[in-house]
Amino acid sequence: MKYCMECGAKLEERFLENEGMIPYCPACQAFRFPVFSTAVSMIVLSPGRDRVLLIKQYGRPAYILVAGYINKGEDAEHAVRREVREEMGLTVGQLHYNRSEYFPNTNTLMLNFTCVAEEDCLDGMTAEVDEAAWYPIEEARRRIKPDSLAQRFLEDWVRAGQN
Ligand SMILES: [Zn+2]
Repeated sequence: MKYCMECGAKLEERFLENEGMIPYCPACQAFRFPVFSTAVSMIVLSPGRDRVLLIKQYGRPAYILVAGYINKGEDAEHAVRREVREEMGLTVGQLHYNRSEYFPNTNTLMLNFTCVAEEDCLDGMTAEVDEAAWYPIEEARRRIKPDSLAQRFLEDWVRAGQN
């Protein structure tokens, strides 16, 4: 970030106690912390918790997890329930936070959750999703996009004992 997002003035670096060197706008007299998006990524489990929902989206061939951006003012748990309903037409029961990872390609902090769907019918899926299917956990691990953030989230969840 080189310029102030409010007034467009050139930022300088100033020392902020407990934070270090932070971009500062001399015109606004305000620190300008780095801006990034926050999104949720979901390991959606079938009601019996024995299958994982994988989807294909935007014409891409690889299977990924359901994900979506958090709205300003919205908590992450609400975003999980809203996104799964909007994209898949499914109601989420239990949910559990797993871990986060920054995704540089889209400047987004991804928060990974596990959540359990209350039904497994995929008829309510939006047209934004090309394809969706439930896979037994071992098969989902084989099918998910290799070397992707979604794969790392799924593998870490398996390794952690599938909370
Ligand atoms: Zn400014």
